[in-house]
Amino acid sequence: MSSFPAPNFRLDGKKALVTGASRGIGLAAAVALAQAGAHVTLAARSKDELAAACKDITASGGHADFVVLDVTDSAAVDHLITNQGPFHVLVNNAGMNRPKPLVEVTNEDLDDIFDLNVKSVFYASRAVAKSLIAAKQPGSIITISSQMGHVGASNRTVYCASKHALEGMTKALSWELGQKNIRVNTICPTFIETALTKGMFEDPTFKASVVSKIALGRVGHVNEVMGSVVFLASDASSLITGSALMLDGGWTAA
Ligand code: NAP
Repeated sequence: MSSFPAPNFRLDGKKALVTGASRGIGLAAAVALAQAGAHVTLAARSKDELAAACKDITASGGHADFVVLDVTDSAAVDHLITNQGPFHVLVNNAGMNRPKPLVEVTNEDLDDIFDLNVKSVFYASRAVAKSLIAAKQPGSIITISSQMGHVGASNRTVYCASKHALEGMTKALSWELGQKNIRVNTICPTFIETALTKGMFEDPTFKASVVSKIALGRVGHVNEVMGSVVFLASDASSLITGSALMLDGGWTAA
């Protein structure tokens, strides 16, 4: 049995940074990482929500702090990571969607979605990798992509383009960083009940069409992303890089 040590899902002694951690999937990811023993820095723009989340985590015995950060500001991202890094785990979670028919998408929509969904992920990944390489430490970069990084869908031209970009970025980064023992992967959820999807699900016809494409016959809950975040952050996934972990309830298996 000694040649088969139990897989290690613990993150004691690790520092983690989660973007978009004030609510939704990012908040669940931050809680999960803290439960696994990491010291977690929660980053987003909403100070009160971040402070409440930190208070909850520390009240439960976890270690956490927060920073008010707009992740589309590359100088601010660099400043945080240079001064508070190296972070051994980065969860690039902050993201947005503005579902619209192609002909109604404005240049501003295109810029806003790419600034947040793609460019901010590049900024944070670059800064975290730089500080880990300088410190000669291993790391795990996890990006919350989407099933929409693997398929297309109506009213989601820009969102799908942004998530497909993350899949390509992740594969390239895995080759850039593999020799430095920094792993890079995506998590690709199906529709999860959060503030992002609340408005969409107010249309019962839309919700029914979504559920009909999920083999499990239901949408997801934020808690169902937590295990995958801890798995990819930990040594239990030590051979996984450049991969996409599909949390799509079977959507892309059709
Ligand atoms: P959400 O509930 O809308 O939360 C988005 C988070 O991003 C918030 O914490 C928000 O905090 C933060 N954020 C937005 N703009 C930011 C900025 N400029 N700087 C820093 N933080 C910013 O979204 P969610 O549903 O949890 O989605 C999280 C991620 O999962 C996104 O990348 C999304 O594309 C992906 N995803 C979601 C679903 C789904 O069905 N929900 C499915 C697949 C993938 P502040 O407003 O406080 O800044």
